[in-house]
Amino acid sequence: MTNPPGTRLPTIAAHLGRAAPSDRVLTRGPAYEASRTLWNGAVTRRPAAVLVCTDPADVQAGVRAARDLGVPMSVRAGGHGWTGSALAEGGLTLDLTSMRRVSVDADTAAANLQGGATAGDLAGAVHPHGMVAVTGTVDAVGMVGLSLGGGYGPLSGRFGLAVDNVLSLDVVLADGSLVTADAEHEPELFWAMRGGGGNFGVVTSMRVRLHTVPAILTGMIVYPLSRAAEVLAALHEPVLHGPDELTVQFAVLTGPTGEPGLFVLPTWCGDPSEGERAVEPLTRLGDPLLTQVGPAALTDMLAAAGAMFPPGRHVEIRPRTVPGLTPGVIDALAAGGRTMTSQLSAVSVHGLHGAAARVPAEDTAFAARTPHLMVENVAQWEPADADAAEHRGWARDLSEALAGEALPGGYVNLLAPDEADQIAHAYGPNRDRLLAAKTRYDPDGVFSATPLP
Ligand SMILES: Cc1cc2nc3c(=O)[nH]c(=O)nc-3n(C[C@H](O)[C@H](O)[C@H](O)COP(=O)(O)OP(=O)(O)OC[C@H]3O[C@@H](n4cnc5c(N)ncnc54)[C@H](O)[C@@H]3O)c2cc1C
Repeated sequence: MTNPPGTRLPTIAAHLGRAAPSDRVLTRGPAYEASRTLWNGAVTRRPAAVLVCTDPADVQAGVRAARDLGVPMSVRAGGHGWTGSALAEGGLTLDLTSMRRVSVDADTAAANLQGGATAGDLAGAVHPHGMVAVTGTVDAVGMVGLSLGGGYGPLSGRFGLAVDNVLSLDVVLADGSLVTADAEHEPELFWAMRGGGGNFGVVTSMRVRLHTVPAILTGMIVYPLSRAAEVLAALHEPVLHGPDELTVQFAVLTGPTGEPGLFVLPTWCGDPSEGERAVEPLTRLGDPLLTQVGPAALTDMLAAAGAMFPPGRHVEIRPRTVPGLTPGVIDALAAGGRTMTSQLSAVSVHGLHGAAARVPAEDTAFAARTPHLMVENVAQWEPADADAAEHRGWARDLSEALAGEALPGGYVNLLAPDEADQIAHAYGPNRDRLLAAKTRYDPDGVFSATPLP
């Protein structure tokens, strides 16, 4: 149903001209370039046209135009999808970056955010009300993209994944209609979108649950990589079976000295003195090079993490989901740290435990609910670096080294379309139900950004 590439550019712009002002239909120039510039500087896709959407009617017009013309379509929000799924090569990209409004309803402890809002937008709007929202770790990541694929984050142990905090979605479907999906309206769509990601429609607005916490304690404890084996072995229990209030991420990163270190990154949300007692053992897993843990606002945490991942570098991420810190996983992670080819690369690990692990697997399309580690093997380098192939190879090799220990499936928000073995099992027992929902809501495959089995 796709037209030849040469015919697309004038056709899409002309077609959209009837529905949207021409200054918001971009085919070249600085605004077009800004729209097609994603966080991963290695992505070079060029949509034939970008429609800058300002409200749901624009999104509806864009979806209908792409459908009428039979051109590929994509949604661009926070721009942090590393594979570049936000851009439709030769097709139409709906740019939601002008739809970032957040309104907070403190009485019902909920917030409504537009489809292009980032984690930082949400956290910033919620903070003055003395509450927190469940986000990922980085401020500039889009909240809808993060949530629809799962959404691991520093509060997941206590409040579940971001997807577990979604209360309702306003969605433009493949036929251009705008529907609300929640527990009572379109419940099957609501189920499928919570894990099935960008496969069902464009979210123009999302309502999420908010929480009140007495305090957040967070920071980092850095161990030398040479002690990785014993530190990692000791992390298994607190990461996967610690109290709900304690969510521990960890990472192998190159520190200011130029040497890679093992960074333990705890976040406690709850009573502060209990938090100090819970975090203290993490400072005694060896001789730390640095211990820096204290009270922090979620907004500052997200901004600090964001500063570590600036846009424009070239990136390849190869994820693996593993059941825990088994000897094989420990060996692979320690070797991965030692063989890192770029000082900008990282191995970043999220644990799923507590509230996120108690959600029954069939409650949302996101099915990986047994405690596990989601390992992000992140190769990162400057655009001018000539060793891109070597850096990519490092991430792929580390992913392969973990494969023998891995659980079937993987995190759809990070999987590339070529990860067929992980994609096949990504939805576990929810596979058939998810595929049935796809047939019902998007039979022609208008939306294809998130890998499906
Ligand atoms: C630096 C960095 C940090 C990250 N941290 C975390 C983390 O802590 N936890 C975690 O779980 N993941 C994390 N991720 C992964 C992240 O959740 C996904 O890459 C997510 O898809 C990014 O969404 P985006 O809007 O920023 O990206 P975009 O590239 O703009 O969009 C990616 C895809 O999301 C979908 N999408 C986005 N908005 C909408 C919408 N309104 N309607 C329908 N579909 C939409 C589309 O399918 C789109 O193709 C991180 C990624 C990066 C690069």
